[in-house]
Amino acid sequence: MANVTIFWFRRDLRLQDNAGLYAALKEKGHVLPLFIFDTEILDKIEDRRDARVTFIHQTVMNLKKELNHLGSDLLVRHGKPLDILRKLIQEKDVRAIYTNHDYEPYARERDEKVSQWAAQQKIEFKTFKDQTLFEKDEILTDSGKPYTVFTPYKRKVLSKLNAFYLQSYPNSQYEGAFAKTAMIEDMLSLENLGFERKEQDFPSAKVSTKVIQQYANTRDFPALEHGTSHLGLHLRFGTVSIRELAREARKHSEVWLSELIWRDFFMQILWHYPLVEKQSFRPEYDRILWRKSKADFTRWCEGKTGYPLVDAGMRELNATGYMHNRVRMVTASFLCKHLLIYWYEGERYFAKKLLDYDLAANNGNWQWAAGTGCDAAPYFRIFNPEAQAKKFDPDGEYIKKWVPEIGTSAYPEPMIDHAEARGRCLQAYAKALRK
Ligand code: FAD
Repeated sequence: MANVTIFWFRRDLRLQDNAGLYAALKEKGHVLPLFIFDTEILDKIEDRRDARVTFIHQTVMNLKKELNHLGSDLLVRHGKPLDILRKLIQEKDVRAIYTNHDYEPYARERDEKVSQWAAQQKIEFKTFKDQTLFEKDEILTDSGKPYTVFTPYKRKVLSKLNAFYLQSYPNSQYEGAFAKTAMIEDMLSLENLGFERKEQDFPSAKVSTKVIQQYANTRDFPALEHGTSHLGLHLRFGTVSIRELAREARKHSEVWLSELIWRDFFMQILWHYPLVEKQSFRPEYDRILWRKSKADFTRWCEGKTGYPLVDAGMRELNATGYMHNRVRMVTASFLCKHLLIYWYEGERYFAKKLLDYDLAANNGNWQWAAGTGCDAAPYFRIFNPEAQAKKFDPDGEYIKKWVPEIGTSAYPEPMIDHAEARGRCLQAYAKALRK
């Protein structure tokens, strides 16, 4: 009788407190861990030195080493998931495939195909909630509808969030169930995958209690090195457990917990309204006559708008793959409102650059900034980038770090006057919404 359960790692790259892996380990038989470098995703990445691919490769390698210590191995494959799985069941005695949920439209389509194929093969395909506190239909309004406004969503989450939802899965108790291997396979190199290593230090997966305790007071100041957790990358690839972080948040900071709930919120929005990936949540906003200016867009991308906080943010992003949340809001608003360029262009640019890029969070926040999304800022509230700089970078420390030529003739004049841009934006939005 077939007795192997494949555990397919995706954005949950850890052995501890992993829901789907725990379920697999508790089953009868052995667990064969698998990671697939998915060509459907990798082929779309233009930059062959993409830092995220380096990070995933490094993390997968560590996972493999951890499993080797346990006498087991991580199978690492490169190709289309269904092709890989088809081949694997020819080689191994597979009873079931277990994995954790992924809410992005591409992943849902992929998993649906795998599920149908597995059913034909009489292989069990089981998926689990792991990357969110609540998912899909777990948090609905009293009339059974998805929430599209954050505050009542959060209230419902807080009323439901108890020890049951926050418990860790004790995977280590069942480590004996990993399939033992006589021969450890070589790890695929980055070059085999068609990529090169990006030399870069990645943020730590640990955050100190002090950072969380002080978060409410420090989170809005981009010059502070430890004003926020910098865990985005780890939450993106599941190198930390959301349950563990939420337990810490509950102990030390309501405000930080709120940010983790925003993450869940946008995931359930993407789940219920997958069309938001490519269009405005409020379709009437797609009537806005957005400007198509390649030159303006390039100035924004390169951090040469003449607005120091915007430029500092874009340069930080280009250099490090990170941008502070306050500055993300200001740069996004500047593109959509001052330059009147469609939010999707900016969303795609961030998607290429952010280490912590996550479709649900990026899309949700871009639509928030553009005023086109659920629970978005009203469109007539337009950030003044200079006022924002005065308030959140009062000594100009962050700006000086990224725009060292500030105050010299080498720094450009503002590419558009704030009042003029504001007027143009209000007119364009009002015209579209009047129709
Ligand atoms: P902390 O402030 O320490 O927060 C902890 C975690 O909470 C974050 O790592 C993140 O997982 C979550 N979180 C915090 N704020 C938000 C939020 N507003 N929405 C959803 N989740 C949140 N976040 C991403 O994870 N990926 C993205 O691609 C992304 N794109 C963004 C684009 C724009 C235009 C804006 C305005 C925000 C975006 N954010 C995105 C949200 C937020 O800016 C980042 O999560 C945060 O800056 C990451 O830094 P940190 O890890 O230090 O977060």
